[in-house]
Amino acid sequence: TRFHDLNLPDRVLKSIAEMGFEYCSEIQAETLPMTLQGYDLIGQAQTGTGKTAAFLIAMISDFLDYPLAEKRANNLARGLIIAPTRELALQIAEEAVKLTDNSHLNVVALVGGMSYEKQKRQLETENVDILVATPGRLLDFARHKKVLLSHVECLVLDEADRMLSMGFIPDVKSIIRMTPHKEKRQTMLFSATFPKDIQALATQWTYFPKEVSV
Ligand code: AMP
Repeated sequence: TRFHDLNLPDRVLKSIAEMGFEYCSEIQAETLPMTLQGYDLIGQAQTGTGKTAAFLIAMISDFLDYPLAEKRANNLARGLIIAPTRELALQIAEEAVKLTDNSHLNVVALVGGMSYEKQKRQLETENVDILVATPGRLLDFARHKKVLLSHVECLVLDEADRMLSMGFIPDVKSIIRMTPHKEKRQTMLFSATFPKDIQALATQWTYFPKEVSV
């Protein structure tokens, strides 16, 4: 599948072309036709498969197709991506910045180990269209109402199995409770492996999900 054969907004296609991508990877070809329609997704995919672009392209296309009718508080997040490590979150944010290069959407990263004050200022001054975060730092900001998750339209949980092994599931549960009910948001969950407890969480957090394995 070529990206041009998917019904993507021109501004997304332009960014994809600028990144040098022409053909979808397997996970992208299998998930985009469904996620672009708004379906929830449970995806089994390792790093290196192109899963990051798979969920980002779906999220960004949706936001461009449905612009906000009115201006809202700039600390209301539209899209939320939760990743287990700072490195992964920053990598996702970097790819999100490239994919939104031709649109007005703004990307904010909230990760541990970096200046709290700087991130706080960013939340006060910038639109949080797409928020990429690690669980601990995000929960901290959300509990202090520095960022609001009550209007999240699209939620991505990346590397769910690593979030489990690193002990982040309680934090992730608290975060998800601050987002709209699963019927009212799109949820995409990715994991390299699906032990029983991840399967149970994936079922709990998604609404009539499509399942893809690559
Ligand atoms: P990921 O699995 O998301 O970590 O992506 C692995 C690498 O593949 C990243 O460097 C991406 O920039 C790259 N990539 C993702 N999708 C494509 C594509 N359709 N064509 C070429 N490279 C891609």
